[in-house]
Amino acid sequence: MKKTERDVKAILKRFDAMAYNLWWSWNPRAQAIFEEFSPLTWEATNHNPIAVRKQFSETELRARLGDEDFLARLMSVLDSFEAYMDYKPRFPNINGGKRIHDPIAYFCAEFGIHECLPFYSGGLGVLAGDHVKSASDLGLPLVGVGLFYRHGYFQQHIDPNGHQQESYPTTDPSNIPVEIVADDSGKTLICTVTIGNSTVHFQGWRINVGRCQIYLLDTDVPENEEHYRGLTAGAYGGDINTRIRQEIVLGIGGVRFLRALGIQPAVFHMNEGHAAFLTLELLREQISKGVPKTKAKQLVRDQCIFTTHTPVPAGHDRFPGDLIEFTLKPFADWMKISIKELMRFGQTISTEDSAEFIMTVLGLKLSRAANAVSEKHSDISRLMWIDLFPGLKSKKVPIGHVTNGVHIPSWTLQRSWEFWERHNSHRWKSHLCDPKFWQHVTNPKIVSDEELWALRYELRRELIEFLRSRAQQQHTFGGPTGEDALYRLLSFDSLTIGFARRFAPYKRALLLFNDIVRAQELFDDPHRPIQIVYAGKSHPRDNEGKDYLKQVINMTRQHPFFGKVVFIENYDMNVARHLIAGCDVWLNTPRRPLEASGTSGQKISINGGLHLSILDGWWNEAYNGKNGWAIGEKVKDSLTPEEIDRRDAESLYQVLSNDVIPLFYQRDKNGIPRKWIEKMRNAMRSIIPIYNTHRMVEEYTTKYYYAKK
Ligand SMILES: *Cc1c(COP(=O)(O)O)cnc(C)c1O
Repeated sequence: MKKTERDVKAILKRFDAMAYNLWWSWNPRAQAIFEEFSPLTWEATNHNPIAVRKQFSETELRARLGDEDFLARLMSVLDSFEAYMDYKPRFPNINGGKRIHDPIAYFCAEFGIHECLPFYSGGLGVLAGDHVKSASDLGLPLVGVGLFYRHGYFQQHIDPNGHQQESYPTTDPSNIPVEIVADDSGKTLICTVTIGNSTVHFQGWRINVGRCQIYLLDTDVPENEEHYRGLTAGAYGGDINTRIRQEIVLGIGGVRFLRALGIQPAVFHMNEGHAAFLTLELLREQISKGVPKTKAKQLVRDQCIFTTHTPVPAGHDRFPGDLIEFTLKPFADWMKISIKELMRFGQTISTEDSAEFIMTVLGLKLSRAANAVSEKHSDISRLMWIDLFPGLKSKKVPIGHVTNGVHIPSWTLQRSWEFWERHNSHRWKSHLCDPKFWQHVTNPKIVSDEELWALRYELRRELIEFLRSRAQQQHTFGGPTGEDALYRLLSFDSLTIGFARRFAPYKRALLLFNDIVRAQELFDDPHRPIQIVYAGKSHPRDNEGKDYLKQVINMTRQHPFFGKVVFIENYDMNVARHLIAGCDVWLNTPRRPLEASGTSGQKISINGGLHLSILDGWWNEAYNGKNGWAIGEKVKDSLTPEEIDRRDAESLYQVLSNDVIPLFYQRDKNGIPRKWIEKMRNAMRSIIPIYNTHRMVEEYTTKYYYAKK
């Protein structure tokens, strides 16, 4: 095949369209193409295709297309991308089977789509990113709205004393897969919000996520006073003054931005309270059209859905009344309502006198439906907000639940991806929610114990090699460093446990070390060796969390934990992907009932991992006695936190020494742990088809977005 000038230009155009669509983030073959172009840039930029794209010229591309094999692979990826974009699936069973036109507007303070886009801090963002990806796969029109954090969430380094250090590198938008949103004349689209006496301007960046888009709002425009240019720079970094202003841009600004684009959403979904000011803008729209207040409120409610994520009262955004008055007085005037009336939207009967405005209350009051993120979390949320529904018993409080999930293709490592394709061609991705399919493909006649065990070894090795190479850069790794790390850090044959999440005290990263003698015994057993890998950031102002992290770092430096208990810096989606695939067991030890759902444990099953967790959040629903292990008792305790920790730790030691470790090392004459693998199969069958975002988005769609009224 001879490439003409025109062909090369056309291929480049198709390549750019693909690189600027995060579709590639859940398609390993597309990622392999970027990597092949420039392995060094791909690795050094945390897998950023735009950085790679800037590394090669048209001349190089023309030359490399001379490699027929590469050309064929590139063409095949471009063809699948274009076929994906052209295919218009119909969302099943809603809207009378007709195509849905007006999109769902999904508002969230953070979006975790891929590690090269640092606009997330943790679970909430990753959930939002996975939600958008599944909406795209399912053909649900959806637009995300969030904020463009130029400094992102912080990068974490551990200093020689075990303290967390934070840095905030600046993101150059021209170097990442985002595009500025322009108006019809090609000029940057600028909208405004009023905050106190100031007019704040903002622009928007579009991220293409398959067939969906996310718009991230950014106040760094020349029209703004200097101090407002940095308003959207940091994620959750600032004080309440910054916070409320960011939330005004997100909620009120977000609605205006969509309107300016000509987008008329069918539903506004507030994912957590940060975006709840959007209801006020919708209300202002109605009132300014002359609709009477009561009717206007009803019209707003009809369009809005609210999801709460936090079972701790302190986790809900609250603003003092004078701050609300200062920032929103002109807005209230426009709406022709008093500040007092506006305050009411954020208050319950019992908080009326506190002069505090609670964003969750606003979201709940102006939504037609609300939900929590697991069954247990909805029980807690109903009790927490019962004041808002006078006269109702807690069971009747209208806060339902949609249990969280994960976007399985994004969390399937390339090796696992190839594994599933080998066994059932391309069908696994279109059968994600089909329990019969997973029952069938996990049958020993289809995948043998030997193949599953080989996969576990491949993934464990991949993780350990990744950790060893990181250890050479991370001088405070805890275990051996430098040359030694390459050969001695962790073992390829040991039972490998993973623990990665935000370092907040309630997550109890140190539960395993509650009784140090028991812990030493476990880690010192030469016949049945175990090892654990930790990762996670602590919020910059959470000193208790940082102290916790320091204690974990200390463990990594002591005998017998040295080289077997390791901490890897700077937890992000890339580190997460390695960990969830390479670990045999995923450990989760929150203090009940503080884990609303949790999702990291849902990412492991497709790669053959097993979950060992407190019965909280999603695991409280998913655990069936055969698909993993439970720690602690299900009953609610009225004990002191120390006593609860002691009991949960005791239970953890028991489960590890009596169940987990023996099962892993119980091998037949061919060295295969048959019973362990049986558990892997059970986990795949019971977890993959349910705890994924395809099921979750379908549930949101049928139960909430398009619920029969
Ligand atoms: C999945 C994920 C999380 C969420 O984990 P939880 O178990 O819900 O705490 C947080 N951070 C990253 C980077 C993730 O990939």
